[in-house]
Amino acid sequence: MAVTAGALALPYVAHAQASARVIVIGGGFGGASCARALRKVDPKLDVTLIEPNATFTSCPLSNEVIAGLRDIAAQQFTYGKIAAEGVRVIAQAASAIDPQAHKVTLTDGSALAYDRLVLSPGIHLDFKAIQGYDEAAADKMPHAWKAGAQTLLLRKQIEAMDDGGVVAIAVPANPIRCPPAPYERASLIAHYLKANKPRSKVLILDAKDEFSQQRLFEQAWSALYGGLIERIPLSQGGRVTEINPADLTIITEFGNYNPQVANVIPPQKAGRIAAAAGAADHTGWCPIDPKTFASKLVSDVHVIGDACLGGGIPKSAAAAQAQGKACAAIIAAQLVGKTPESPTLTGVCYNTVAPGYAFSLAGVYQPKGEIFGEVEGGSTSPVDAPREVRAKEADAAIAWYKTLTVGAFG
Ligand code: FAD
Repeated sequence: MAVTAGALALPYVAHAQASARVIVIGGGFGGASCARALRKVDPKLDVTLIEPNATFTSCPLSNEVIAGLRDIAAQQFTYGKIAAEGVRVIAQAASAIDPQAHKVTLTDGSALAYDRLVLSPGIHLDFKAIQGYDEAAADKMPHAWKAGAQTLLLRKQIEAMDDGGVVAIAVPANPIRCPPAPYERASLIAHYLKANKPRSKVLILDAKDEFSQQRLFEQAWSALYGGLIERIPLSQGGRVTEINPADLTIITEFGNYNPQVANVIPPQKAGRIAAAAGAADHTGWCPIDPKTFASKLVSDVHVIGDACLGGGIPKSAAAAQAQGKACAAIIAAQLVGKTPESPTLTGVCYNTVAPGYAFSLAGVYQPKGEIFGEVEGGSTSPVDAPREVRAKEADAAIAWYKTLTVGAFG
C-alpha cells in the first residue's frame, strides 16, 4: 500500500542510522525497478521511493492505445506490491535537493535525509524549443510523449477526424525518449486510417535524415500501407520551427502545413528535478560514470533511465530497468565497502507496426570510457523475414511487456 509523506517525513535530522538510507526519485521503469532491486539485494536497506502519481501510465505500447487497439487501463500500474516488499512509497514529488546536506524536500515542505540518492525522473518536454508550442498548445496539438491524458486526447482527435484528413507527427532530433517510437506511432495510426478513413494520410515532419531501424520501417510501410505514410526528412525541410495552435499550423524550414490532427513531439531534457539537484549539464541531460551510474556533478547521487547521458544505450524502458537493477547492486556493494562489478546491460526494443507484425533490436552495452558503448551480442530482425517471423515477434513483444512491467511493479 502506498503511504503519504505526512505519516513518514519526520523533520530532517542528521544522525547515524542503523541501516543505510537510499532514496529513489521517480517511480517509472528505472526508479521502480531500482527500489525493488535494492530491497532484494539487501533487505536491511532503508529504501524510499518518491513518486507523485498513485498510478503510473506506461509509454511502451501506448501507441496501440492511440490506434484504438488497446485500452489505457492495460497501461496502468500501482505501487502496492512495491510497498508490500518493504519500500516506503511516498506519494509526493520531490521539490528540491540539497546535495551538501544530503536532503530531499517534498512538495508539502517536509524533508528526508539520504545516504545515497537515485534520480530516475524521466524527461521533461522542452516547451521553449518550438516557437508557439507551450503546455496550453499541447491541449490542442498533443505530444502524447508522456502517457495518460495526452495519449487519450490524440486518440480522440484521430477518431473525430473526417476521412481525407491529414495526421501530422512532428519528430525532434535525437536524443529523445525511445527514438523509434514516432515511426511505430505513424505505422499504427496508418493501420487505423487504412481500415477506417482510407482517404486520409500520415505526414511525418522529421528533424532527422535517418532514424532507428529505418529499413525495417520503410519495408513494412510499403508492404502494409502503400502511400499512406509520407515522411519529410531534415534535408527536405522536415524540421518544425514554429506552430500556431489557433489554426493547427505547423511551420518548418521549407513550408507551412495545416493538418487536421497535429501530434507535436518537442525536444526533451532530463526531468526537472535533475537540474534542480545540479546533476544536469549544459545539454540538459545528466553525465554519469557508466561503471557506477554516479553523477559526475553531484556526489552520492546516481542517475538512471532517460535522464542520464547513457551514450550508445537508447532511452528506453528496457534500458531504464536494466540500469535500475544494476545501479541497485552497485549501491549495495559500495555501502558495505566493496568494489562493484562493472555493469553489462542488455535490452530489446520491439516495434509493432500492425497487429501481428513486429520487429526488434536487441543490444548489449558496457562502459566504454566515459559512456556506455554497444558490444557484441546484439541483433536486429532481418529486413527480408517472412510474415511468420513478424507474427512471432509481435507475440514476443507482448511477452516482453509482461516481463518488463512485472519486473518494475510486481
Ligand atoms: P519514466 O518511466 O518516465 O519515470 C519517471 C517517473 O519520475 C515518472 O513516474 C514521474 O512522475 C516521476 N517524477 C518526475 N519528476 C519527479 C519528482 N520531482 N519527484 C518525484 N517523482 C518524479 N521503451 C521501451 O523499452 N520499449 C518500448 O516499446 C517503448 N515504447 C515507447 C513508446 C512511446 C510512445 C514512448 C513515448 C516511449 C516508449 N518507450 C519504450 C520509452 C520508455 O517509456 C522510457 O524510456 C522509460 O519510461 C524511461 O524510464 P524512466 O524511469 O527514466 O522514466
